[in-house]
Amino acid sequence: MLNKTGVPTIDLIKSRFPKEELLVKPKAITECYEEIPCNPCSTSCPFDAISIGEDINKPPQVDFEKCTGCGICVYSCPGLAIMTVQIVHDKARFKIPYEFRPLPKVNDVYEGVNRNGDVITTVVIEKVTLTEKQDRTVLLQVLVPIEFLYEFVTIRRPI
Ligand code: SF4
Ligand code: SF4
Repeated sequence: MLNKTGVPTIDLIKSRFPKEELLVKPKAITECYEEIPCNPCSTSCPFDAISIGEDINKPPQVDFEKCTGCGICVYSCPGLAIMTVQIVHDKARFKIPYEFRPLPKVNDVYEGVNRNGDVITTVVIEKVTLTEKQDRTVLLQVLVPIEFLYEFVTIRRPI
């Protein structure tokens, strides 16, 4: 499926998530499935929570016990292939990378999009972070209904 459409199967997506009980705290989800020579996620993590190993082509592995959900790897990944996820009551809180302009504002309501590009829900923007360290990749913290935990991937400006 990934090779033909670029869209991972639900099993592949879930293979990058920790057990849901660990998601009481934010954890990094690396959606990096291909073998490519890349490692900024691993070198940027201050907690040594992402390993790639000696072969730089191997996909990253997250140690969820070490990951604090700080979000540094999210804006450090050149492929925009990482987000953090946390379960908060009946919502899923995501931190996603975002490089479009104009930027959303806190409390804006955007469309939530799945990996096929379909609109699946609405999301509320909770936080917009952009520091010098991030270059121009913004971290957006958004709240999504929990049923879209494994479906939501990004936002789209309402037309
Ligand atoms: S979210 Fe922070 S602690 Fe977790 S893997 Fe990324 S950089 Fe490391
Ligand atoms: S930085 Fe991003 S694209 Fe590169 S290996 Fe890590 S997750 Fe994959």
